[in-house]
Amino acid sequence: MAQMQAAFVEQFGQPLVLRSCDIPEAGPGQILVKVEACGVCHTDLHAAKGDWPIKPSLPFTPGHEAIGIVVALGAGVSVVKEGDRVGVPWLYSACGHCEYCLSSWETVCADAEFGGYTRDGGFAEYVVADPNYVAHIPKGLGPKEAAPLICAGITTYKGIKETGAKPGEWIAISGAGGLGHLAIQYAKAMGLKVCAVDIDDGKLAHATRLGADLTINAKYGHPAQVLKEDTGGGAHGVLITAPSLVAFNQGVAMTRKHGTCVLVGLPPGEFPVPLFDVVANCITIRGSFVGTRKDMAEALAFAAEGKVKADIELQPLSAINDIFHRLERGDVPSRVVLDFTSA
Ligand code: NAD
Ligand code: ZN
Ligand code: ZN
Repeated sequence: MAQMQAAFVEQFGQPLVLRSCDIPEAGPGQILVKVEACGVCHTDLHAAKGDWPIKPSLPFTPGHEAIGIVVALGAGVSVVKEGDRVGVPWLYSACGHCEYCLSSWETVCADAEFGGYTRDGGFAEYVVADPNYVAHIPKGLGPKEAAPLICAGITTYKGIKETGAKPGEWIAISGAGGLGHLAIQYAKAMGLKVCAVDIDDGKLAHATRLGADLTINAKYGHPAQVLKEDTGGGAHGVLITAPSLVAFNQGVAMTRKHGTCVLVGLPPGEFPVPLFDVVANCITIRGSFVGTRKDMAEALAFAAEGKVKADIELQPLSAINDIFHRLERGDVPSRVVLDFTSA
């Protein structure tokens, strides 16, 4: 059987193991994708550490920002064809029939499968996918630039919509990394005034270059107080992408009266909610999980039209353990993308 290189999590919290394995086959209703590029999301790090209550079964291959070319079709597949460029996202598949799937909330389907978590993902030369749930990459968008959009892009685009903030209003984006650097661009393209919040001055300087109207380093002083003073009462919408519990308390405190604080960062643990402030100020706190296939098409369209562009650093698959260490230290400027085309 033909072989490929893939990275495996064999033990939680241990370095990934790079090894050869059989190229998987596309079964009935599936497709085989030859990976060109795959972004490295902080979620991959949570997955490899076993951070969350529901853990993947070991061993598994992470990666849910894979873009590649369809090279084989399983029996009965007609929605994509060989040669198409597709993305294999976190929402790998869903049942298609439950109340959530029927109402365009397939992201919370109880039978959903997750790429690089419950199904082997894109830290590999080939990946099997469900053709009904792949992202369709618009012409004119290269695979490396598209990779971060199919998780970091869609998640922040959807999260911004979920804040309900309207053009001309303020949004605070906490965490200006992989997700956040795209969130800033989507928010500006959607007509919002943007305050970027991070604990790293380099990321904040980049946020300004990307169009942020205001930046706050959350390491110093009282970031919510600063934001409230500078915006005349706080942000209408807050999007928390930071993988840090401290950021969640700060984000709720940054929310304007009657505003909405959307949580997308997923550090393990819980955070206390100041009940009186939330109730008396009529604040909404809302979780948001990636996005639907419709959100995916919309998020990709912004990039195809040149309104949003991922900042990428290319690395080979063999660098994955070093990339994880850097992500953990907050040492990745925007997004690392594994490049499978140069090997
Ligand atoms: P990243 O490491 O690229 O970026 C995180 C950023 O947060 C960094 O810039 C870091 O400096 C900053 N940060 C750290 N502590 C902070 C603090 N206290 N205040 C403000 N900023 C702080 O990570 P990423 O790939 O952008 O992912 C971020 C989080 O989002 C992860 O927890 C990931 O699992 C989660 N995520 C959730 C979804 C979803 O659907 N809800 C999707 C993708 C990722
Ligand atoms: Zn992700
Ligand atoms: Zn369903």
